[in-house]
Amino acid sequence: MKNITVLAIPKLIIASLILSILLTWPINAQSISLSKQEESPLLVMLHFDDGYQGIYTNAFPLMEKYGYVGTMFLPTNLIDRPKHMTLDQIKLMKDAGWEIGSHSRTHPDLRKLDQATLYDEVVGSRNVLIGDGLLTLDNAFFCSPMTVWDQYVALLVSQNYKAARAKELIIFDSPIQPEQHVQVVLKDTLIVDIKHWIKQARADNSWLILVFHEIAEGGNEYFCPPDQFEQILHLLQESNVKVTTIEKAITEWENFTSQSSLNDK
Ligand SMILES: [Zn+2]
Repeated sequence: MKNITVLAIPKLIIASLILSILLTWPINAQSISLSKQEESPLLVMLHFDDGYQGIYTNAFPLMEKYGYVGTMFLPTNLIDRPKHMTLDQIKLMKDAGWEIGSHSRTHPDLRKLDQATLYDEVVGSRNVLIGDGLLTLDNAFFCSPMTVWDQYVALLVSQNYKAARAKELIIFDSPIQPEQHVQVVLKDTLIVDIKHWIKQARADNSWLILVFHEIAEGGNEYFCPPDQFEQILHLLQESNVKVTTIEKAITEWENFTSQSSLNDK
């Protein structure tokens, strides 16, 4: 029998926690002074979901060439499986500065699971990554499979991670959430689309998160060919943006919000 702490929490406490999370999420950065944020370059994050082989084979060397590191969200049961990265490859990327987060164990629709299975997918996957030295408890990040969750899933994730991406990246211990644009890069995404997203994010003083899946030739709509991927990196390099990780973006965000609240006093 697993120790499922969430079961021990009275329903009333769960309800009030859900309420407080839902009440704080929609609040965004525009309610506080943006003067400081306008001075800083556009923050861009490159996220790679699902742990496909091409992230190591194709994306990693290209990212190295441009001096960038990304964030990869891994379904832990797919590590070392065909068409996916091996643990050794992931560790090499981690050593090179890449950030790693959990993408559950088996990539299910988390809304459809019983409590024990949900706990294993959310917390069990985190513990696997911690055990492999890929994640620390203080900086544990999660991405919901298919970017779907409900209030119950979100609550469990919020109790076990610092931040998580569903439709947007949510920082759990921050009452104010950064403005952000999350865009999935598909096979037919054009460079002009990325230029437009950069322009929009700049205009909105928001973060830009580009989400990739497999970086390889062929495949389905989620495959981004390596030459197209390199064109995107080249565009980022030319666009005076700061490519960063979740941990670094959150640190900047926390400094920014604490500075803003000091200025308000
Ligand atoms: Zn996924």
